[in-house]
Amino acid sequence: MNTLMEMRQAVVETGRQMIGRGLVAGTWGNISMRSQSGEQIAITPSGRPYDQLTPEDIVVVDPAGQILAGRRPSSELALHLAIYHARTDVLAIVHTHSLYATACAVAGKAIPASLEEMVQAVGGPVQVAAYALPGTVELAANAVAALADRSAVLLANHGVAACGPSLSEALLVAELVEKAAHIHVMAQQLGGARELSEEDVALMRRFYLEHYRPGK
Ligand SMILES: [Zn+2]
Repeated sequence: MNTLMEMRQAVVETGRQMIGRGLVAGTWGNISMRSQSGEQIAITPSGRPYDQLTPEDIVVVDPAGQILAGRRPSSELALHLAIYHARTDVLAIVHTHSLYATACAVAGKAIPASLEEMVQAVGGPVQVAAYALPGTVELAANAVAALADRSAVLLANHGVAACGPSLSEALLVAELVEKAAHIHVMAQQLGGARELSEEDVALMRRFYLEHYRPGK
């Protein structure tokens, strides 16, 4: 993969899957993919419904955010560019406002490392980035700091950013973060979640990266 049109098509398909999996309502959220060369980033446009997007609607920018094709990129372009800049291992980002993860983000509560499949895919708890207004470089910097070397971060009062080496994995991470947040909220009603030990989290993460990751 990696002709520009293939990248744009893959972003469109991931948008449809994101709706199908109930991770997004309306036009909120956004998706991007970086080419192997790092020279191009394909990102969803601003304010367009996902089920009506065509590959031509997907905007292509360079790492500095200059538009190479298409019209108006997502208002969260700065967030995507900052994560790509900080994390050379990341080739795709899925940003959602999914319900339970956003509940945690609104409450300012990290999602603890308590669900096995989430810690395998994320690498530990999902931290909450310090608040900043949407679309700002401050939001992007706060998100990168709280993301660290993991695969997901909560954006305070806003939503989730999930990332990975492919669109399918970034979408999987977004789904698992939502599932873990839902289970975390339910576990609170049962007296609270029991967290996994850091040792066990590290072991499961290594197993996932070496043997279990999609495409392995
Ligand atoms: Zn958002």
